[in-house]
Amino acid sequence: MRKKVLIVGAGLGGLCTALRLSKQGFEVEIIEKYHQAGGRLNRLTQDGFTFDVGPSFFSMSYEFDELFTSCGIKNPLVFNELDPLYAVYFSNQAKPYLIHKDLKKLGKEFPSEIDFEAKVKRYLASAKSIFHDTEHRIVKRNYSSLLSYAKALASVPLKHAPKLFKTMWAELEAHFTTQEVKVIFSLVAFFLGSTPFDTPAVYSLLNYTELEHDGYWNVQGGMYQIVEVMLKELHKEGVKIRYNTEIVTYKDKNNVLSGLIDKSGQVYTADLYVVNSDAAAFRGQVLKQEKFSESKLDKMDWTLAPFTIYLGVKGRIPNFYHHNYFLGTNFSEYADKIFKSSVSPEKPYYYVNVSSVHNPASAPENCENLFVLCPVPDLRFKKDWSDADQLADNIIQDLGKRIGYPLMENVLTRKVMPPTEWQSAFNLYRGSGLGLAHGLNQVAAMRPSNKDDKYKNVYYVGASTVPGTGLPIVVISSRLVLERIEQDLKKEAVVA
Ligand SMILES: Cc1cc2nc3c(=O)[nH]c(=O)nc-3n(C[C@H](O)[C@H](O)[C@H](O)COP(=O)(O)OP(=O)(O)OC[C@H]3O[C@@H](n4cnc5c(N)ncnc54)[C@H](O)[C@@H]3O)c2cc1C
Repeated sequence: MRKKVLIVGAGLGGLCTALRLSKQGFEVEIIEKYHQAGGRLNRLTQDGFTFDVGPSFFSMSYEFDELFTSCGIKNPLVFNELDPLYAVYFSNQAKPYLIHKDLKKLGKEFPSEIDFEAKVKRYLASAKSIFHDTEHRIVKRNYSSLLSYAKALASVPLKHAPKLFKTMWAELEAHFTTQEVKVIFSLVAFFLGSTPFDTPAVYSLLNYTELEHDGYWNVQGGMYQIVEVMLKELHKEGVKIRYNTEIVTYKDKNNVLSGLIDKSGQVYTADLYVVNSDAAAFRGQVLKQEKFSESKLDKMDWTLAPFTIYLGVKGRIPNFYHHNYFLGTNFSEYADKIFKSSVSPEKPYYYVNVSSVHNPASAPENCENLFVLCPVPDLRFKKDWSDADQLADNIIQDLGKRIGYPLMENVLTRKVMPPTEWQSAFNLYRGSGLGLAHGLNQVAAMRPSNKDDKYKNVYYVGASTVPGTGLPIVVISSRLVLERIEQDLKKEAVVA
């Protein structure tokens, strides 16, 4: 008889796992709290505008190819490569820096950095070797114990060890002299939901992924296409999805989970359970595991919270790029203080994505579609977001000035999502946007495992389990959980 798997959450992790498992012949059902699939990779439609709610681009596009190919499907998604990768505006300079993969072109953006090309090549060569020396040995694998992790670490060339103990910022200081180069190259730390002052130098590998390896991509038709094509495939496989249903508690029998229970008391049963809800928070809040009690969760390192604004704007904004960062001039001080503060930033740093540049159908004719993301402290530090509209006004006014467009006057529609709303929509712990952080104490075998310690039939997929956060990494997470399940079932079959 087919084994039944119940998946909690229809985020990217849940959907990919459902696709992989259903293709392997499992009967799959998904329970989702929100009214539609996608989790953070969601879509908002409002007054004729369509917004990508969270992610707007990704690296390592080949992980999506792997997903579809391994399921016997030709990848139906069309990807657009970003060129320039992004534009960076500093508040004291009118012209943005355009970040190109072509290093000669990139060098022209930084005329005051002497020998830029030679320096960046040296920096990227080191980042490249970290990426390739850890990709399969450390990142894309399951661990059975801390000993197996220690053995894996021992297989990584020793030359990378110093980068474990130095920060990304220190690594950049060792290679470059110009503040703008250092700041711009350090922005990748924010993709890990942290700052370059807290992030180990090994993550310079992310500069290699953006500037040399696979670059950045988005999806023709909008990021939500990823969810749409997956839903289509899951429908063909007969996977059922139940929306507006939140799992809040459980029942068990002899170290086996025997059911998950929703808010109304309905019990859902299966042979195996895969949890796409946050792998740390679910263990604590739903399964009541002491190791993940609220006080212990609060002591863990969480990524920054998102403060997002969705703006439908009248008119086309000239000379505006698809991906843009708007920074001030006090980067170190800002990054050091703001994320542990209980007040909103006065002069916020933020990211703006204009999806109508690549996807005109997302905005009505002669209109523009803006997504603003401002990383802010999570709800442990700033609980009260009653000033959300004030912060949004502040950002919109600043942005209008910096791009020379009367933005405020031309807003046709607007939605603001503070961390409190991110928390309540998708159960993001304390509103943390990317889940658990990626310091050395919270990666690989030190991260909450994709297999539960107590329940032999419970697994995890997604941003807060292995390998970590970000769309392609979550796709890898779904492959690792499938491998874990297959391995366990093989062992079970041998014993039987
Ligand atoms: C604002 C923002 C911008 C981002 N930008 C990028 C980007 O540009 N590129 C990139 O690669 N990554 C980006 N990320 C990160 C990326 O979105 C995540 O790493 C990824 O989407 C996580 O997927 P997931 O499946 O692990 O979790 P989720 O997307 O959170 O999915 C989990 C699902 O489980 C559901 N759920 C939770 N608890 C329960 C429960 N008890 N019962 C039932 N259902 C439950 C939730 O509602 C949700 O649908 C961004 C994230 C944010 C917040």
